[in-house]
Amino acid sequence: MDIEQFRKAGYQAIDRICDYFYSLEKRPVASQVQPGYLREALPDSAPEQGEEWDTIADDYQKLILPGITHWQHPSFFAYFPTASTFEGLLGDLYASSTSNPGFNWNSSPACTELEAVVMDWSAKLFGLGDHFLNSSEIGGGVIQTTASDSALVAIVAARSAYTKKHPGVKHEDLIIYTTTQTHSLGTKAALVLGLQCRALQVKAEDEFGLRGDTLKQAIEEDTKQGKHPFVIIATIGTTSSGAIDRLNEIGEVVKGSSLWVHVDAAWAGVTLSCPEFRDIAQLDYINKYGDSLCVNFHKWGLVNFDASAFWVRDRKLLTDALDITPEYLRTKHGDAGTVIDYRNWHLALGRRFRSLKIWFVLRSFGQEGFRNYIRKSVALNNYFVSLVKQSPSFSFVTKPSFALTVFRLTPQLHEGSKISPTQESLNDLNREFHNRTLTRPEILLTQTVIDGVFCIRFAVGAERTTKEHIDKAWALIQEEAEVALGIWAK
Ligand code: PLP
Repeated sequence: MDIEQFRKAGYQAIDRICDYFYSLEKRPVASQVQPGYLREALPDSAPEQGEEWDTIADDYQKLILPGITHWQHPSFFAYFPTASTFEGLLGDLYASSTSNPGFNWNSSPACTELEAVVMDWSAKLFGLGDHFLNSSEIGGGVIQTTASDSALVAIVAARSAYTKKHPGVKHEDLIIYTTTQTHSLGTKAALVLGLQCRALQVKAEDEFGLRGDTLKQAIEEDTKQGKHPFVIIATIGTTSSGAIDRLNEIGEVVKGSSLWVHVDAAWAGVTLSCPEFRDIAQLDYINKYGDSLCVNFHKWGLVNFDASAFWVRDRKLLTDALDITPEYLRTKHGDAGTVIDYRNWHLALGRRFRSLKIWFVLRSFGQEGFRNYIRKSVALNNYFVSLVKQSPSFSFVTKPSFALTVFRLTPQLHEGSKISPTQESLNDLNREFHNRTLTRPEILLTQTVIDGVFCIRFAVGAERTTKEHIDKAWALIQEEAEVALGIWAK
């Protein structure tokens, strides 16, 4: 493809992408294809001779789009929606056009410098303390691929800092702390690093947030056994229910120790942009006790996947753990320490120019627009909560959190009814109910199990969701609930 052919194909691609967005609501939210559909449709090997671009572009429409689940659909309430924007998309397009791996300052100064600046802008947007700013030259921010990478990198830094302070500690005695509600990224990191991971029990009466006492007891038990807990992953807004670990209590317990506090605010961290949510999201304690923090822009933060913002209190602990500098990577500025070399802040060498899309989004929305978007999602979720509250057939499994509601069907039994449902039968009812919603192409909801209770998650966040979509979703939920209840009662 030459430049003029690209110009033509590019215009066509943008046209088709716009048509795609216009057509979103007419499409089923979840892809309806069966496993293996694409292998059947595609040849066994790449074509020997190059093909015409028009044929390739048409095949995207014909073969790929049907296999796409439309995360940007306004009735996507599953997982945590990814709120993407055209600004973000254009950022990716421009970044792709220069396609450079930006691993150190020299490899493309703008990539490093823009990242350092937008991470400071973002830190200020979220109210983070000055010690997290790149301009502090002590702490700093870097864009990672995902929250899982952010946690892995934090754990690597924490381990290196801990073992330097405690020489002679055996690798097998090191322990990562998570909770029973932490995202699987904690266990995954332990698996990758060959470390032990202990999931501390959190309780329903604490709204599934980790308490200081539980942590204190675990530390006492483990140290008595000669073990070395060296990092705790505290979550602000867990995946299942949006639970918040009590950072104030955790901080009091770990104060003065060498235990690293990594705050996983992958989903809910964006609420820190709004002053009214900062107490709930524990901003003061993140600033006071957090050694590192992760907020995913690519979830609820208006930036297209992927863009995971990661800050550390002390950048040297990170770079000491990750810096390997062979001769071919040495540069004058790097040697002099006058620039950031982001290759030492993450796992890979090369890195995408992700700061561009964050820059586009923050400039186009402004801080006010960003905050308003978060507020809009929370308000829509509050509206959904009000609908659930009015219905006698549903109950909340956990307290609604920001833009997430976890609920289930709880049948109203008449007085004198002979039915006394067990947990298992209520779980069966809710499985049936959820499965029924999955047969409806107009909506997508995902499920979870909390303390043995099967429940449904309703997560608001897609950029185009409005009150009408909540109303439609609620009507559908009621319809399917009625059918599920009818089947269950027989
Ligand atoms: N942390 C929390 C609280 C999450 O909800 C999720 C995903 O939903 C993750 C981490 C993992 O995010 P990523 O895909 O960026 O690794």
